Amino acid sequence: MHDESKRLTTSFGSPVPDDQNTMTAGQRGPALLQDVHLIEKLAHFDRERIPERVVHAKGAGAWGYFEVTHDVTDYTCAEFLSAVGKRTETFARFSTVGGEKGSADTARDPRGFAVKFYTEDGNYDFVGNNTPVFFIRDPMKFPDFIHTQKRNPVTNLPDANMAWDFWSLTPESIHQVTILFSDRGTPDGYRHMNGYSGHTFMWYKANGQYVWVRIHMKTEQGIKTLTRQQATQLAGTDPDYATRDLFDAIARGDAPAWKVHAQIMQPDQADQCRFDPFDITKVWPHGEFPLVPFGRLVLDRNPANYFAEVEQAAFSPGNLVPGIAPSPDKMLQGRLFSYPDTHRHRLGPNYHLIPVNAARAAAVDNYQRDGAMRTDDNGGGAPNYGPNTMGGPASVRSVAPPMLPVTGNAGSQPRDYPQDDFEQAGALYSRVMTDGDRTNLVGNIVSHLGNAETRIQLRQAALFFKAHPEYGTRVAQGLGLPVAEVERLAAMTQDERVAATQ
Ligand code: NDP
Repeated sequence: MHDESKRLTTSFGSPVPDDQNTMTAGQRGPALLQDVHLIEKLAHFDRERIPERVVHAKGAGAWGYFEVTHDVTDYTCAEFLSAVGKRTETFARFSTVGGEKGSADTARDPRGFAVKFYTEDGNYDFVGNNTPVFFIRDPMKFPDFIHTQKRNPVTNLPDANMAWDFWSLTPESIHQVTILFSDRGTPDGYRHMNGYSGHTFMWYKANGQYVWVRIHMKTEQGIKTLTRQQATQLAGTDPDYATRDLFDAIARGDAPAWKVHAQIMQPDQADQCRFDPFDITKVWPHGEFPLVPFGRLVLDRNPANYFAEVEQAAFSPGNLVPGIAPSPDKMLQGRLFSYPDTHRHRLGPNYHLIPVNAARAAAVDNYQRDGAMRTDDNGGGAPNYGPNTMGGPASVRSVAPPMLPVTGNAGSQPRDYPQDDFEQAGALYSRVMTDGDRTNLVGNIVSHLGNAETRIQLRQAALFFKAHPEYGTRVAQGLGLPVAEVERLAAMTQDERVAATQ
């Protein structure tokens, strides 16, 4: 029923006399420029789309809360972790990575797992994935890597040659490639997957003591994955499968939840570690660094408006609070720049004023002013410079993380920890996966790598062989490649292998 008291207005509140007939000069004549309502309506429509994220474009989100379940005050002074039972409001966004905003939810891809915690010390963003590792360890390679996951510049089609050429030239990718091509690369919706920080972070106390941590959010719904065949079918019949599943579950009161854990490494353990604890292509083995439970994430409220809350949600791994600080992980260091830079491009310099991004439990007070779409009082009459003797805010030295010693020569260089890119991928294949997992993994790889040139297949099969001989042998057999040749390539150095497969 039309409510007579609800007036249709322009965006400036003036009642609109006619929303169905464009003003014309005469009943059969052309439209009039003075029809400001028509012009406003069309002009706004023309500007409805904002740039989609270059990665993580397709996503779904939900509101909820985080509750501390175990005491971790021995490790961090983070206020939101200060007492068992303490709750913090959260907003989470899950996503695929490579596909466009309209792409299928069930594509083989890592899944973004981002959670904003609205703490009393400002917003803390957990910006993780559903995999504990990543394809590369240096942000210099990130744009190149993502180009290989996007469309060929000529055909505008996904391109197996681009993807496998890059992976086979980037041996550190083998661990993540193995997870991606297992059925974990096609999770059954967003509720049935874990979230991992991937990066190492610092947790520190007010007295300067610190530890290194990796965060794991383990699904209480249980891990569920799709086979390649199921994922492909769903991409056609229900491309929004994961979005629908999350929204419907919350709408029916079936709130998904995750148990949140930290792996903890002492500074001297990091100094002596046999692998680089700041390398995102590596996990920290559970046997040496057990999961310490400390919280529970519950998502129990759907967004009221998708664009306002999910499309405009902007996460950054640099949104940290006292008690949590970055580590020297190079990929993390690159993301500390790239995420806010993307938000300024997509949403503007004042993206922090958009309600989903704004601090909700902390007051914001600084000397930043003006800029496009400044929508609050812009600091009013308060001083806009510091230091000042006009009552403005001052920095709080006591919240600073401990200083870290740094030595060595400045320049472009790899990190100087021992590098073994194959051991952990091999352990996953041989020790963690079931026979069924391995069969599906090999089938998933063969169906994709089979679309690349033979020389690239050979180079990549050799990397699988280096991870585990049976793994490489089964991939080679599936592709119809000579196993002896794959074994010969596997015995070479990477430079020799590349030269032999030009
Ligand atoms: P563990 O046996 O203690 O842990 C194995 C882990 O592997 C579990 O966390 C499990 O996650 C996960 N897992 C099980 N099946 C798969 C699969 N098909 N694809 C990806 N992950 C799977 O061993 P370690 O800690 O010594 O690690 C051995 C290997 O396990 C690693 O090299 C790594 O590839 C993988 N892994 C390790 C993780 C870690 O942080 N240590 C995290 C995830 C994977 P779940 O409990 O959810 O089933």
